[in-house]
Amino acid sequence: MDDRDGKIWHNGKLVEWRDSKTHTLTHSLHYGLSVFEGVRAYETPKGTAVFRLQDHTNRLFDSAKIFGMNIPFSKDEINQAHIDVVKANELKSCYFRPIAFYGSNKLGIAPQSDDVQVIVAAWAWGAYLGEEALKQGIRCKISSFSRHHPNITMIKAKASGNYMNSILANTEAHHDGYDEAILLDSTGYVAEGSGENIFVVSRGKLFTPALDVALDGITRRTIIEIAKKLGVEVVEKRITRDELYVADEVFFTGTAAEVTPIREIDNRQIGIGARGELTTELQQRFFDIVQGRNPDYEHYLTYVK
Ligand code: PMP
Repeated sequence: MDDRDGKIWHNGKLVEWRDSKTHTLTHSLHYGLSVFEGVRAYETPKGTAVFRLQDHTNRLFDSAKIFGMNIPFSKDEINQAHIDVVKANELKSCYFRPIAFYGSNKLGIAPQSDDVQVIVAAWAWGAYLGEEALKQGIRCKISSFSRHHPNITMIKAKASGNYMNSILANTEAHHDGYDEAILLDSTGYVAEGSGENIFVVSRGKLFTPALDVALDGITRRTIIEIAKKLGVEVVEKRITRDELYVADEVFFTGTAAEVTPIREIDNRQIGIGARGELTTELQQRFFDIVQGRNPDYEHYLTYVK
């Protein structure tokens, strides 16, 4: 991805895409600590709008705080960087990758606290699991890898090292012919996907694992809000593997994955084996909100002006 035309916001300046570089002795490359976000902007009737930008920026700063990293920019500056890269790259809709990482001033486990680099990149990126997946649903496998224990790494942080576990699960699932992995927590209960939160529909209610074992997903928050407004009861609880097998519907949420139905798990058909009724309704409402068709959620949209 490095050899492209365009601009990346790099430590406060818009630089040429191919010049946004770091040294091979970058601390984060060696020890795996950086904090990042995945954010999306959509085309709306009133122009391009970033969805829940402030919430993503808040989570970025929370992730940094958890690991004692000082981001040398204000939240407003990071928000503005998102707007600037959309404009500089003339994007109508896009995925953003803000990331804060330690530079190459010093190696050894303890990072140098004032050597934090920040970039915000943006590029056009369609449906993460494919356009078909949003309609037809995907096939998942329960991973042989467990999700993080809350005292081994910090689950509230969207930190790069956490994703080694995601890579193990996701590549295993692909290797075995599935679209994505579902990870159980260290006690055997359902946690999340490799980069998505998970929801279960059963007898008209919506269930999702509590946040002690899963990332506090911003799409997850949005879906809970939409469901409650629809009068659907939402329950955060421990979910077993076999509860997934007998669920009426199961779906993933995430900024990249949006609302992706799961039609099969471990070779068992879930519900009707296609996008279910409530999943369809929630997905439709989600896209109405992010694409600016629901005035009740305007406060979640930051327009690029
Ligand atoms: N869980 C994990 C592990 C993730 O990487 C993501 C993507 N950020 C999510 C859940 C969903 O979070 P969000 O809806 O904020 O993108």
